[in-house]
Amino acid sequence: MSDEILRVRDLRTRFFTEEGQVNAVDGVSFDVKNGEIYGIVGESGSGKSVTALSIIDLVDSPGRVTAGEVWYRNADLAEEFRGERPEAVDGDFVDVRRLPEGVRRALRGPSFSTVFQDPMSSMNPSITVGEQIAEAVEAQRRARANPRRTRSRTQGYGLVNFVVDSVVPSRSYVSTESRERAIELLEQVGIPDPVDRADEYPHQFSGGMLQRAMIAQALAGEPDVLVADEPTTALDVTIQAQILNLLRDLQEREGMSVILITHDLGVIARMCDRVGVMYAGEVVERGTLEDVFENPVHPYTRGLLGSIPDLEDPAPRLRPIEGNVPSLLDAEMGERCYFADRCPMAMEECLTRIPEFAAADDVPSRGSNGEGDAEHRARCVLAERDYDPSQALPDGYFDAESGAPARPEGGNRGRESEVNADD
Ligand code: SF4
Repeated sequence: MSDEILRVRDLRTRFFTEEGQVNAVDGVSFDVKNGEIYGIVGESGSGKSVTALSIIDLVDSPGRVTAGEVWYRNADLAEEFRGERPEAVDGDFVDVRRLPEGVRRALRGPSFSTVFQDPMSSMNPSITVGEQIAEAVEAQRRARANPRRTRSRTQGYGLVNFVVDSVVPSRSYVSTESRERAIELLEQVGIPDPVDRADEYPHQFSGGMLQRAMIAQALAGEPDVLVADEPTTALDVTIQAQILNLLRDLQEREGMSVILITHDLGVIARMCDRVGVMYAGEVVERGTLEDVFENPVHPYTRGLLGSIPDLEDPAPRLRPIEGNVPSLLDAEMGERCYFADRCPMAMEECLTRIPEFAAADDVPSRGSNGEGDAEHRARCVLAERDYDPSQALPDGYFDAESGAPARPEGGNRGRESEVNADD
């Protein structure tokens, strides 16, 4: 029996802007196993965060998930929808995208929860930390009681509530039990004096303590999958280490799966079991930590690893990946490898097609038996065959400013641009 909790298949998210359609997530597929920490790494703008938001159904307009499947293992839901929506059920898995909206919303908390990058802007500054966590606990209790009709604090607010709140401005929406659970959660994430600190406001917390409180809030629903989106980026280095240790401890104690999004390969190396490397809205390489760190195939992965300073053998200068992330406007993407203008091994073939997501050791010179390692894959012609220097592109082939080929190819990716249903 497979041990995945999540199977993401061919996920596509578009932003419909005045400039045109932006392909922020473009055919992303990966699995997350039960109780593992799965890392997603890449530069800013590579699509990591939008991928996470797409999985938990939090993409805002003008963005929209236009295609793909998010299969989530939940035997109860599978049983409930097997007759009603057979296309949304596969064994013990349900395709979250095909479930009714109320059910999808109810999954946020008990099934999927999120820790965002900047705790200061993620919490309401005018409500105490304890109250905010207790609200999350309360919301999860209501969602469990009635998974098909979940309402946020403001939905269905109405005139009566408005009048009562005007007379009793400090009226609480949470029960004593939820407040007690919030204090337990604060204690669980290592906040000293949780009873007192629960009554403090976010500005009275340090960055590290507030990030702990955010994690407590995310744990309120006892999620199966915790999405941690750059959870330590806004923190200084010593606090980063504490938060990462906390995440690891909680993940082991609670048996959760974690999707850890970061641009920091050091964080991936320290925390993750398997990893997907994203570039230009695609996963360009994925595999176990050992596969990707010890035997990287995609030149982008190699470039990321090569840009890490080596304390044993310090280079006189850091080695960045030259160039910029390409435009993700559909009309400008073309039918080619999107890393080609930054790739030191780019060949003519790389400009004629989008490479397959091939088994990464399927190259005879690497001793492959032709079957490849299904786990370790890369979207690069070098996953399919050896580098051929005779095909190398001449220096200056790409415009240094725009990254566009000197020989324009034009056109979009060989398909019709998708129509925004909201138009
Ligand atoms: S497909 Fe070609 S251009 Fe793209 S990363 Fe691989 S070698 Fe470089």
